[in-house]
Amino acid sequence: MKPTLVLVGRPNVGKSTLFNRMTRSRDAIVADIPGLTRDRHYGHGRMGDKPYLVVDTGGFEPTVTEGILHEMARQTRQAIDEADLVLFIVDGRTGLTPQDKIIAEQLRKTGRKILLVVNKTEGMASSVVTAEFHELGLGDPCAVSAVHGDNVNELVELALLDF
Ligand code: GDP
Ligand code: MG
Repeated sequence: MKPTLVLVGRPNVGKSTLFNRMTRSRDAIVADIPGLTRDRHYGHGRMGDKPYLVVDTGGFEPTVTEGILHEMARQTRQAIDEADLVLFIVDGRTGLTPQDKIIAEQLRKTGRKILLVVNKTEGMASSVVTAEFHELGLGDPCAVSAVHGDNVNELVELALLDF
């Protein structure tokens, strides 16, 4: 059975860029406009002889209850229900935000396996950039740069270890 890896995080942290890296496709729409990806996007990837499915989500706005943002949150929850592993993406340049903490809490409640990924870390020492994110209580964060591809293969290997 192919494991399903679901990318979750607030808008603009680089989920779609990472999706493209992990699927070597241009299926996901990458843009500076936060929350442009409104649906779930599915892509296939393979690491060695291990195939996997990746799901890109539109972003998680847990405090918003109406309109398009609510629909995005609903889609994201559905994707999480399908997840064998949630990749929770945060932004190493912005640093830890209050919204990251809310998302972490909601993810914890789902009981899903979670791997914390700190993106946008190109040119930064990984131990320094990941330090503040330990506070989320989700274990050792994995530092990557989706744009540059730094450490993305290592991330996928880590994600697939138990499958
Ligand atoms: P999403 O809303 O989480 O899907 O984020 P996107 O993938 O659309 O990316 C949002 C912005 O962050 C775009 O301008 C990306 O080019 C930029 N971005 C994504 N990954 C990285 C990265 O590793 N480093 C840097 N510096 N920027 C990134
Ligand atoms: Mg996106």
